[in-house]
Parts: sequence; structure tokens; C-alpha cells
Amino acid sequence: MTKTFQNFIAGQWSAPESGAYFENRNPADTRDLIGTFPLSNSHDVDAAVASAKRGFEIWRNTPAPARGDVLRRVGDLLTQRKEEIADLMTREMGKPLTETRGDVQEGIDTAYYAATMGRQLSGRTVPSEMSNKWAMSFRRPIGVAGIIAPFNFPLAIPTWKMFPALVCGNACVFKPSEDVPHTGHTLVEIMLEAGLPPEVIQLVHGLGADVGAPIVSHPDVAVVSFTGSTQTGSMVGETCGRMHKRLSLEMGGKNAMIVMDDADLDLALDGVLWGAFGTTGQRCTATSRLILQKGIHDNFLGKLVERARGMALGDGRKKGTDVGPLIHESSRAKVERYIDIGQSDGADLLCGGRRPDGNKFEHGFFFEPTIFARVEAGMRIEQEEIFGPVLSVIRVSDADEAFRVNNGVKYGLSSSLYTRDVNLAFRAFNELDNGITYINAPTIGAEAHLPFGGVKQTGNGHREGGWEVYEFYSETKVGYCDFSGVLQRAQIDNYLGTPD
Ligand code: NAD
Repeated sequence: MTKTFQNFIAGQWSAPESGAYFENRNPADTRDLIGTFPLSNSHDVDAAVASAKRGFEIWRNTPAPARGDVLRRVGDLLTQRKEEIADLMTREMGKPLTETRGDVQEGIDTAYYAATMGRQLSGRTVPSEMSNKWAMSFRRPIGVAGIIAPFNFPLAIPTWKMFPALVCGNACVFKPSEDVPHTGHTLVEIMLEAGLPPEVIQLVHGLGADVGAPIVSHPDVAVVSFTGSTQTGSMVGETCGRMHKRLSLEMGGKNAMIVMDDADLDLALDGVLWGAFGTTGQRCTATSRLILQKGIHDNFLGKLVERARGMALGDGRKKGTDVGPLIHESSRAKVERYIDIGQSDGADLLCGGRRPDGNKFEHGFFFEPTIFARVEAGMRIEQEEIFGPVLSVIRVSDADEAFRVNNGVKYGLSSSLYTRDVNLAFRAFNELDNGITYINAPTIGAEAHLPFGGVKQTGNGHREGGWEVYEFYSETKVGYCDFSGVLQRAQIDNYLGTPD
């Protein structure tokens, strides 16, 4: 029998106001129905925000180290249930088990890091310019946080957002992606089991327009954290700008790996296959452009095409699968549109570019790893985020040209350079316009305790992960305490000796 899941609002698992539900199916085999989930609307969001406001009053008055202790227990529970969560995540999202295990591990790492941050939410104490007066800054929670997540890291990304928000003392209204609602459900179950007071977390399932947009525009949601496409992020940004809300945007990417003539080519080959075709190319940090220096271009490309052709497509829950399905049919249709665009713009399709043959692929959204060569900087397949297993290869003469190509797109998430030249490596840190640059590693591989995010149209200046995200989820407040017993006027009484 199909299981029906509910929202978690006002401390209870409850049906949506509409009474309607949507289906969650396995993208590797759409005959496999995982469950039905609430099609919520703005009434559900209103109830969730009202409850979160009550939760906030309790939580803000809970000492931060005690808040951190709850996150430590969340980390323990995620560790205990890692295999089960990974399996269910692959079932609803498609990426192979090795990757979903990594996704859960990132949540575990984020939980334990958050636990330690409960004892480190520091401000500064600095000297006052007056005698017998103290001056200091400290951090306060903000209020209700609206958390809107994408489908591709079903557990890790919600944890990046919610765990620091909670340690800082905020309450969360969480909308998981409608493509991966089951992982969102499991995460909330675990947070409650770990001892989070019920009204501190609200889970509202549903579509972006019906649930995401009302969360963003709700006057009592003080801070919004969004990860998703640049297009959706622009809409979220407009609303938050108009309403003067604090907002973190993490959006699209068009990430390049540069391989120089002096690189370790076998290492680069492993890196590009993992970067381009892991998660079926559905990562914000996916390697979607490969910039090859002319001396190694032909040789490297030949080996790459051979290896890409040998990648095993299939159900991510089956051993030996390298590449799972795309998330849904519309994603596959989008990839197919870009195959046509690439060809009509004059790029050479070297492999892939099609749905695989065979019965085992019949009921899933599979697409073959695809490589385009003779791609020119400026072509649409070189500029636009495709979000599928499509790699565009660009040939360059030297490092200057490679860096120019890397920087010539509107996105700026991650970049990668393979070289043995240490001077060039440090030039890349300085000159590549990205939030993250990897040397001798692919464009993916962020660790939970470092800031994560991009420049240009990938982000709006904030970072997730590491220590910086704690600043996003808290307000700096300054306290002055004058214990002199007299009126001391700053900038005036301490300069009385200065002639007019
Ligand atoms: P998406 O923009 O379609 O959806 C993201 C979330 O926003 C979903 O929960 C969706 O329901 C919600 N949403 C949709 N319309 C909304 C609206 N009008 N108001 C508020 N919320 C709304 O993105 P997706 O397809 O789930 O994810 C893929 C995109 O996410 C890619 O562009 C990828 O690069 C990006 N991404 C970025 C990062 C990063 O850290 N930079 C990480 C992962 C994914």
C-alpha cells in the first residue's frame, strides 16, 4: 500500500489544507511509487510560520551550547541511519549509493561542526575611547528562517542551512524540493528525535509557487536561505529586496576544469569523469566545461571519450553503476534541447547525446554521458547551465587564454586547474573568478567546515558551510556599558583639549 506522508506544523504531523497530495516516484524506474506527499499552500505556510514564531521564543532563550547538543545528537542519529537514508535517497533522487552515502556524511559532518559552534558564537570586546566604559559586540538570533532547498543534495543542503540557523537560535520553516520530499521528511523526524522542541522546526511540502513563494513573502519570515536555479533565485531575490529581508542565494554554475600540457593526465582523466558525469551532471559544481591546452588536447580527448563510453548507466542502487538517471523527464528534455543547440552551433558530438537503448532503461530518465568537442567560447553550450551529463571541451593555447575562457561566463561557483607548475597554481587562486578553485582535483569536493558559494550570478555574496554561515544566521549587536557615573560624550568630551 502507498504510504501517505504529512507536513509537520505546530508540533504535529498534519494533512495539508488542500487535502491534495503529489506522487514521489523513483527516477530510475517510475513504476516504483515511494509515497504521496502534501500539496500544501499558503494557509499551511501561515500556520507553520505562526508556530515557528512561538518556537523561536523558546529556542532563542535556550543557551547556544545546549542548542549545539541537540545537533550533536542529530549527527549521532544520522550516523546510525546512514545506510538506510542513503538507500532511500538513491531511490527518490537516482544518484548511486556511493554518492548518497557521501551526501549523508556531509550532513553528519555539518551536524558535528554545528555542535561545536554552539560554544563559539563569539563577538568582540574592544577598548572604548572613554574611561570606565566597555564596548563589545555579540550575536543574536534573527527569528524565523525560511529554508528552500533543491533536489540534487537532498540531505546535505538542508543541513547546511538548518543546522547553523538552529545553533544561532532561529526557528526554521523548511520546504524540501518536491523531487526529494522523503529525505526531507526523514531529516525532520531525526531532528525531532534528537530533542529539537517541536515548534522550532516546521516542514511544509509542495511546489515552489504554492509553498516556496509564500514562505519568501511572509512578513514574519525574517531570513531566507535559498538554493536552486538562478532563474528562481532572481524571483526570490526580488521579493526579499522589496521586503528588506536578509537573503542567502546559492544558484547555478558553469564550472570549468583546465588541464595544462604539464599536468598528470591520468589524474586529470579520473577527475573530469567524476566531475562531469557524477550525479549525472546535476551538481551546481559539476564540471560542465573542460579547457584543454593544445599540446595534450587530442591525446587527452581520445582517452576521455573512450572512458566516458565505458561508464555504466543504471539504477544507482545496483552495484557497479557509475551514472544514474536524471531527476525527471523535463530535465531530460532540456538536455536534449541542448544537444540540438550544440550541434546546430557547430560543435562536434563525440559521444552520447542520446537516451540509452535497452529494456533496463525503459522506465527511467537515463541519458548517456555526452562530450562535445570544438566548442568555442561564447557558444550556448559553453555559457548556459545544462544540468545534465554534458561536457563541452574547449581548446586553448596557453594559461592566459584558459583563464579568460574560465572567467567568460555569468556564473562563478568553482574552477579547477591541473598543472605541476606551483606558480600557475597560485595565479589561478588569484585570477579565476570563482568562489572555489581546486588545484589537481575536479570542480567538486567541498568540505563542510569551509565556506561554500560562488561569485557573479551564482550567489549574492553570502557563503554556506564553515564559520561564515553563522554570521548570516545571526545579527551583530553592540553593547556599551558606561560605569563612570558621569555623562561621557563620545568624540566630544575626550577631545575637549583640542582648539576650536
Ligand atoms: P529550482 O530553482 O527549480 O528549485 C529549487 C527550490 O526552489 C525547490 O524547492 C523549488 O520548489 C523552489 N521554488 C521554485 N519556484 C519557487 C518560487 N517561485 N519561490 C520560492 N521557491 C521556489 O532548482 P532545482 O532544479 O531544484 O535545483 C537545480 C539548481 O540548483 C541548479 O541551477 C543548480 O546549479 C542549483 N544548485 C546550486 C547550488 C549552490 O550551492 N550554488 C547547490 C545545489 C544546486
